[in-house]
Amino acid sequence: MSPRAALASVWHVTATSAITTAHAQLAAAIEHLGYDEGLHAHLRMPRREIHVAVPLRTDSGELRLFRGYRVQHNVSRGPGKGGLRFAPNVDIDEVRALAMWMTWKCAVADIPYGGAKGGVAIDPTLYSKAELERVTRRYTTEIMPLIGPETDIMAPDMGTDEQTMAWIMDTYSTARGHTIPAVVTGKPIAVGGSLGRAVATSAGVVHVTRSALEAVGEKLGGKTVAVQGYGKVGAHAADLYAANGARVVAVSDVFGAVHNEDGLDMGRLAAHVAATGSVTGFDDADPLTNDALLALDVDVLVPAATENVLTEQTAPTVRARLVVEGANGPTTPEADAILARNGVSVVPDILANAGGVIVSYFEWVQATQVYWWTEKEIDERLEQRMVTAYDLVADLARRDGITLREAAGVIAVQRVAEAHEIRGLYP
Ligand code: NAD
Repeated sequence: MSPRAALASVWHVTATSAITTAHAQLAAAIEHLGYDEGLHAHLRMPRREIHVAVPLRTDSGELRLFRGYRVQHNVSRGPGKGGLRFAPNVDIDEVRALAMWMTWKCAVADIPYGGAKGGVAIDPTLYSKAELERVTRRYTTEIMPLIGPETDIMAPDMGTDEQTMAWIMDTYSTARGHTIPAVVTGKPIAVGGSLGRAVATSAGVVHVTRSALEAVGEKLGGKTVAVQGYGKVGAHAADLYAANGARVVAVSDVFGAVHNEDGLDMGRLAAHVAATGSVTGFDDADPLTNDALLALDVDVLVPAATENVLTEQTAPTVRARLVVEGANGPTTPEADAILARNGVSVVPDILANAGGVIVSYFEWVQATQVYWWTEKEIDERLEQRMVTAYDLVADLARRDGITLREAAGVIAVQRVAEAHEIRGLYP
């Protein structure tokens, strides 16, 4: 199978059932809290969503059309907040699931945002930078009535990056007639981005890994780690694990995985990826499939790629004692049950990868106040928030005899429900 066909097939599989997983997780929290069906329905349905057509005149003069979406799942605790994804099989249900997870993530991290997400069904690897700029600017223009620094704030996700955010900010600012940096986060530093944002999600992943290990009397130093997905989250996480004394023995991307039991040389691996565009073919490691990476005998497994990779089929093969979800929705409810039965502890996505939205919040605060914090201030405040959130979730899990995912869901849903209750129903 060609790399392109492999990419398309993976994306097709992963885009199918995120909403089923998200709905099952919400139902479990509702049941635990004893909330009624009316509130359940209210928390399940997105507040607003927009479907747009995004036309592109390609560099060679052809006209192409892409579907775009923006979903605001909940805005009771503050403006919608969430990334923008460019991937060929993004559909409205996947964006709804991702928006719902953002609501819970912001609530668990206790930051004053609701949840939102956007997507454009495009394979960004097939288009030039100029074409992607035109797609981004047109998408932004189409959804402009819904977004703004006090209504809905975008950030990078799969297939988008800080350059994408700069184009969105410029498009929005040009339409409003003045510069409005707080309309997006994850911007380049030169246009109001925050120090520490690029590595924030990964730094948070490492903080909760440390907390989870300390909870069982262990240390991160010397532990073996496998990371699925060598993208913005996975690559920085791998670097940070190695910098903190762990041994990263395997990483992967959509084209395949590489494995070295002695630990991968992070600097040489990064240079290889910069030169070739993939971890595959790295000469200081053995090739591996993505499924084999999930089954490695490591201490910590970090899925940091996409949804539904730990399933009924792959979960029984997991030998790691600890799974830390860098990605959103990597584990299906069936896989969750299998992992729990097998004694595998899972730090769930809405807690584990909250570092990105926490530093996005810091970036938004800095942009709003036009006053910039030092990297040290950001790092310390991020760690403090991650550890606080972890401890709260772990305490509830212990008290009620539930998993970390169930506990995180219960805390999040309770906080959002409380905001609903206090605000009341209009009219
Ligand atoms: P990215 O596009 O930078 O990287 C994704 C990586 O995963 C790439 O290396 C890609 O090749 C690989 N990949 C995709 N499908 C795969 C598969 N089936 N098997 C193996 N590898 C695969 O995206 P990202 O921003 O790093 O996001 C990764 C995940 O983390 C997503 O679930 C995203 O929603 C989540 N997340 C991202 C952030 C952030 O700050 N970027 C924050 C929170 C959560």
